[in-house]
Amino acid sequence: RASQVTVLGLGDMGSAIAKTLINRGYRTTVWNRTASKCAPLVDAGATAAATAAEAVAASPLVVVCLLDSTAVDEVLGSVDAAVTGKVLVNLTSGSPSQARANERWASERGAEYLDGKIMGDPPYVGTPNVMFLFSGSRSAFDAHEPLLRELGTVVYHGEEAGSAAVEFMAQVAMGYEILIGFLHTLRLVQAEGADVAEFAERVASSVAALPPLLSSIGKAVKSGEYPPDLGSLNVQAALMDDLISHRESIGVEAVRMREVKDLMDRRIAGGFGAQGFSSLFELLAKS
Ligand code: NDP
Repeated sequence: RASQVTVLGLGDMGSAIAKTLINRGYRTTVWNRTASKCAPLVDAGATAAATAAEAVAASPLVVVCLLDSTAVDEVLGSVDAAVTGKVLVNLTSGSPSQARANERWASERGAEYLDGKIMGDPPYVGTPNVMFLFSGSRSAFDAHEPLLRELGTVVYHGEEAGSAAVEFMAQVAMGYEILIGFLHTLRLVQAEGADVAEFAERVASSVAALPPLLSSIGKAVKSGEYPPDLGSLNVQAALMDDLISHRESIGVEAVRMREVKDLMDRRIAGGFGAQGFSSLFELLAKS
């Protein structure tokens, strides 16, 4: 179990990570391209290194949290052979293929690689409200799990280095799919003259019904059997007509509703009108 750790990258997230590790008693070395960002962490007890390579040399465990994969490539390029024998934990957001490329880079230099993806906000680092998804070297994960758990809720997705990024990309996509629908809905609410903030408060309690629905849709899609969740498509399609014409009558964009209605119509035309909303999955392109 490492008591020493290096953090490369002291933006909002990297600083929150370094601060948490310092507070939890780890001897922490920090480096950042703009050196002035080291000062608050040095005040809190960290040691600042002059270069990324020096920072890497100082600890067996190296945590990287930079803007993007371009920054990671640049910084790791400057570190190069100093990484030999270390465990590299990269918490920078990015794709599965970037994670796999980083693993290759580390393994060519005799380092173990753990890819990490963060879901949550910097002020909550160190609490269960920030989720850290990991994949890659199991021995590295096992050896450093106690330190990683200091940062938040930790889930290990297996040895395939890209797995955490696969999950991250899907979770982030889900967030945006839901939130763009929410913004479309706020436009409707505002067009009707209602208070969007008050509506948001009310809708927050009605979305409590979503988790069981997500589970049942997941099971329906997996099995390929589609019970009439939310009612049959025949009934839902009639409601969609009302939703679309209402939006159009007050001049509010109906693009998302038309997408849903079009899928319902095609499914009904195919003879599946008795099935539920989940059966629209059959019409979504595979790749
Ligand atoms: P910031 O913009 O606050 O910090 C970016 C960091 O990257 C800085 O340390 C910056 O250095 C460094 N950097 C950028 N380009 C280079 C480069 N070419 N060479 C060296 N260093 C570089 O971002 P965050 O700290 O907020 O985010 C870091 C990572 O964490 C991102 O991948 C982000 O997606 C992820 N994340 C962030 C969340 C958030 O809410 N903030 C939530 C979940 C994930 P410098 O100070 O010199 O500019």
